[in-house]
Amino acid sequence: MLKILILPGDGIGVEVTNVSLYVLKALGEKLNIKFEFESALFGGSSIDAYGVPVTVEVLKKAKSSDAVLLGAVGGPKWDNLDYEIRPEKGLLTLRKELEAFANLRPAVVYPSLQSASTLKSEIVEGVDIMVVRELTGGIYFGTPRGITKLSNGEERGVNTLSYTTTEIERVSRVAFQIARKRRKKVTSVDKANVLDVMELWRRTVTRIGKEEFPDVELEHLYVDNAAMQLIRRPRSFDVILADNMFGDILSDEAAQLTGSLGMLPSASLGNGRAIYEPIHGSAPDIAGQDIANPIASILSSAMMLKYSFNMDNAADEIDKAVRKVLEKGYRTGDIYEKGTTKVGCQEMGRLILEEIRKQ
Ligand code: NAD
Repeated sequence: MLKILILPGDGIGVEVTNVSLYVLKALGEKLNIKFEFESALFGGSSIDAYGVPVTVEVLKKAKSSDAVLLGAVGGPKWDNLDYEIRPEKGLLTLRKELEAFANLRPAVVYPSLQSASTLKSEIVEGVDIMVVRELTGGIYFGTPRGITKLSNGEERGVNTLSYTTTEIERVSRVAFQIARKRRKKVTSVDKANVLDVMELWRRTVTRIGKEEFPDVELEHLYVDNAAMQLIRRPRSFDVILADNMFGDILSDEAAQLTGSLGMLPSASLGNGRAIYEPIHGSAPDIAGQDIANPIASILSSAMMLKYSFNMDNAADEIDKAVRKVLEKGYRTGDIYEKGTTKVGCQEMGRLILEEIRKQ
């Protein structure tokens, strides 16, 4: 029995997660996978009910689940609360408690959506990249940090970029393992020409590659060059491995290649634990109208099947069904263009489910 904790969250998080759940249930029936689903309040909805964005009980449930499927959190209703009890704080707490150190963000350009990209079709055609970003270390967490006043009246701001070999090794292994399931190439991004910590990064990634993954090709790029090559020759990338800050920037750049926020899933992996969620937010501007694109959430479920449960075939069933529905010309409002058929959130889910049943 696979125990999955569902945290729909707020706004369209609730709508898209509901659709994902139908799809997972149908797939479970078809492939005889035994799922056990449990839902809980999270983010703004948890603040309304319990005064905190995530309760101790929900954190316990998350730790005892095989995976967590999350929607999105936040909205104007909670924007003026104290930082410590904002919906986003719930997300950070959950990631921290599950020690989710590797963030996975695929950027796939679907043939039928090529024109949604801001780059020329011939450049983005066939792009299929996985960005693996270190999520719990690096400059966002390093100490000392802060702003101090100097004796001459000036202020000085400091942050510390630090990584241990263990931190680099574990995220490298995730990247190499993922590459093994894909086109067997890792591009590690650093700034080893300037920063000592990045020299350690490069040395450690090289060693892990050589000793444990000799079958995977390893390329190193300085981050400035990587940012350039990503828009110049995006097809040549398979898995991009980067530290927290470079990964933050490059994963957004890669996402922009696809041009559609409602299509992008993500995973945050810890030791045997994981959180799966779309990269978009709660979209208060369209919440409650049944017009959100549920595909990012549905593809997050597919990632869960692949990375938490090693069910590559089940994940492929979802990917194939999504491609089919797009090829047939169905679109939610965010990816709609003239000549295609506009459908709502639930209808998009129903069409994908129909394809899964047919396959
Ligand atoms: P957003 O991602 O919610 O929305 C940005 C724009 O994209 C909006 O116009 C929205 O309608 C559209 N959009 C997003 N997802 C869509 C989908 N699936 N289908 C169709 N259109 C979609 O970002 P925002 O507006 O900056 O933030 C709204 C709220 O979400 C804020 O409270 C923010 O803090 C929160 N947020 C949460 C997360 C998360 O839970 N991981 C991530 C980002 C933002």
